[in-house]
Amino acid sequence: MICQNAIMVAQEQLRIAAEKLELEPGMHEILKNPKRSIKVSVTIKMDDNTIRVFDGIRVQHWDVKGPFKGGIRYHPELTIDDVTALAMWMTWKCAIANLPYGGAKGGICCNPKEMSQGELERLTRRYVSLIINYLGPHKDIPAPDVYTNEQTMAWIMDTYSQIKGYSVPESVTGKPVEIGGSEGRDCATSLGVAFCVKEAAKILKLNMKRATVAVQGYGSVGYNAASIMDSMGCKVIAASDSSGGILCTEGLNPDSVYKHKRKTGSVINYRNCQNLTNEELLQLECDILIPAALQNQIKKENANKIRAKLVAEGANGPTTPEADKILYEKGTCIIPDILANSGGVTVSYFEWVQNLTREHWTLQEVNRKLEERITKAFYDVYELSKEEESDMRTAALMLGVGRVARAIRTLGLWP
Ligand code: NAD
Repeated sequence: MICQNAIMVAQEQLRIAAEKLELEPGMHEILKNPKRSIKVSVTIKMDDNTIRVFDGIRVQHWDVKGPFKGGIRYHPELTIDDVTALAMWMTWKCAIANLPYGGAKGGICCNPKEMSQGELERLTRRYVSLIINYLGPHKDIPAPDVYTNEQTMAWIMDTYSQIKGYSVPESVTGKPVEIGGSEGRDCATSLGVAFCVKEAAKILKLNMKRATVAVQGYGSVGYNAASIMDSMGCKVIAASDSSGGILCTEGLNPDSVYKHKRKTGSVINYRNCQNLTNEELLQLECDILIPAALQNQIKKENANKIRAKLVAEGANGPTTPEADKILYEKGTCIIPDILANSGGVTVSYFEWVQNLTREHWTLQEVNRKLEERITKAFYDVYELSKEEESDMRTAALMLGVGRVARAIRTLGLWP
């Protein structure tokens, strides 16, 4: 079977973990299905006074360890299947990071690039109002994902608070610092990726000071990852976004590329660079490849052409199981998404804890705690992969799925 979309990938990954863990069939069945899938019609008035209806989704996978947690994505091709896969990955990710959360994901099928700020604000507020009974600091806590940002989170917090009648900063994470956001949340996912890369480089005996890096996707995760890797001494040679990519073997200045993208709308045509396609970027000769865009990018068709020694998955679901197998056989090391990008939800957890306790931690404290937690998770997964003689993804899935299954068994099924 070839996995052509995210839900097929997620189901196949679960099947592999269930087989390795020798899960009882009933448990596999439980974990295959989300606890709740909510679909709503988000109706708003556009700036030209026409009415439009957008599909809104929130999928809550499993919550045995605490409230649901997961990002909100705005994308024109968003489907309930994609959101279900992303929610499932959140469940495993939170378990691997030992966070007291279950997995969820949500979003709206829309093209935010064609909408005004006013339209996006009305869309966000209406969506929250439709699913409010399922949200809350002890039920389900949203965060940013593709094409949503801290402003979106501020609107979510305000809508939730207005409806409740009091301010509830702990209802959402990834919000601006001035309304209760955590220091370091904006860079947390990318910093987590970098901490994982640092540990993997030690194992692979890769010199970070000489390593070359290619980054697919130049949004929140991709840009910050490029900037952090640059500050660690690596040479970022390529970057891309939805319009295409750029290559400069001499090395790019990540901040300057980001300014160019903000000014022109894309990284392409950046000075002294060669333009290239996203496919070409993935196949570049480099030490470290960081996919930081969408799912299903490295697949059966191109896996053999990947030349990076290390793939650190900033994005969720960028590699299919068929590609995993090909890369493992040719010796490429993959730090899987459910480990590599868990820095985001880890600092979201720190933000929630700070909000609940009305505390505010310093950036140093946040980053130190993040490094401690993600390094521990990295070695939990790495040691298990050695024990099982498997790739890191299989080990990560075994760790995450195994922990959730044990919790479900302990709680039992009611009634
Ligand atoms: P973002 O909206 O800030 O950036 C997305 C980037 O991907 C943009 O540069 C966009 O142009 C690019 N892109 C979109 N379609 C593309 C395509 N077909 N080819 C190449 N590039 C494309 O989103 P983000 O928050 O940086 O999320 C990126 C990935 O990281 C997603 O898979 C997301 O689920 C994952 N992730 C994000 C967080 C977080 O904290 N934001 C946490 C964990 C995982």
